[in-house]
Amino acid sequence: MPCIRCAIGLGGNLGDAPETLTRALRALSTLRNSSVIAVSALYRSAAIGPAGQPDYANAAILLDTRLSPWQLLDELQALEAAAGRVRELRWGARTLDLDLLLYGEQRIHDARLTVPHPEMHRRAFVLRPLQDIWPQAHWSEAPDLVTLLQQPELAQQVLQPWPEPRWLAARALYSTPLRSTP
Ligand code: ATP
Ligand code: CA
Ligand code: CA
Repeated sequence: MPCIRCAIGLGGNLGDAPETLTRALRALSTLRNSSVIAVSALYRSAAIGPAGQPDYANAAILLDTRLSPWQLLDELQALEAAAGRVRELRWGARTLDLDLLLYGEQRIHDARLTVPHPEMHRRAFVLRPLQDIWPQAHWSEAPDLVTLLQQPELAQQVLQPWPEPRWLAARALYSTPLRSTP
């Protein structure tokens, strides 16, 4: 397999979400045939989906990998399970959600995977972290990140930086300088 640069979105809103996301980052840094290239800031966002949920912690990472998209999804789902994720309501509260946002420039649409992630262009909590790590990211017919984030539906979404010390420490450890970002 060639080495492909991909973007992964991290989220969680049950339990100690900054701790869960920090552990997920550590685990992703040990993924076989892969390296973490960049790590976003941690953000706090109001939940979408069923009402009354706690706020989310959100982040994104860039990973260079030789895993196939399906192998990568297997790994992401194993990490979700290890974090105690239980699938109940669609978009319900969860300890950990790991979405494959972009896999190089590939477009995938099958029973298990849609890439680019079909909702990412509507979600500030995905695009803002992505902007930290891959400001030039572009996919299919979507405009650039700055334009997307200025759209009223996105600009009104509540999202704030969450300078959580455990995340900051892990981020400093695992992200390499952005020089290699395309
Ligand atoms: P959303 O996809 O709207 O963000 P969600 O993350 O809550 O919702 P999940 O319950 O985590 O959805 O995942 C449902 C299914 O989505 C998974 O079993 C997986 O097979 C599929 N899926 C399709 N495309 C992707 C992708 N790009 N990344 C992760 N899972 C995906
Ligand atoms: Ca998701
Ligand atoms: Ca998911």
